[in-house]
Amino acid sequence: MSAPADYTAAMHRPPVKHCRNCGNVVIIRLPDDGDTRKRAVCPACRTVHYDNPLNVVGTIPALDDRVLLCKRNIEPRLGKWTLPAGFMELHETVAEGAARETLEEAGAQFELGDFFSLVNIARVGQVHLFYRARLLSDQFAPGYETQEARLFTEAQVPWDEIAFRTVGETLKRYFDDHRRGQFSVHVFDIN
Ligand SMILES: [Zn+2]
Repeated sequence: MSAPADYTAAMHRPPVKHCRNCGNVVIIRLPDDGDTRKRAVCPACRTVHYDNPLNVVGTIPALDDRVLLCKRNIEPRLGKWTLPAGFMELHETVAEGAARETLEEAGAQFELGDFFSLVNIARVGQVHLFYRARLLSDQFAPGYETQEARLFTEAQVPWDEIAFRTVGETLKRYFDDHRRGQFSVHVFDIN
């Protein structure tokens, strides 16, 4: 299981407090190598710890004119609806991560499709990446992170009950493209 998809403003990672190399308490300062950003530097072994953005990867699983949404069984946004997505793991590609999350959260049978959206959320240091996916069945076996997995037409989507803005904005663009009968790649920012 991946880390829970807690990708919200509340999910700023706490700063590094102890050196990952030797366990000493780190100091936040400019490193000695000319770096212009303050980092967590270990006074004992001099290891510099870099804090970089996280990728959240997921899919838009679709069957004819309906899209699969998952009702969250975990905080944050417990009980709200989302696309299957979660933090990318080490040693996997974006596509592999998106497929893994779809299997874990929805237990869906699907064929991964084309890349669809890249959403920067610079404020919280995250990039969200969604692939399209073609559902092969309308039977789902959601994992523990999901209360319920269900198909929705555009009109049926509970727009006021969507867990995350990245998901709502991605869904809007998806249905726009679907109506037009032509899908393109969408890159946009959310503050
Ligand atoms: Zn150290």
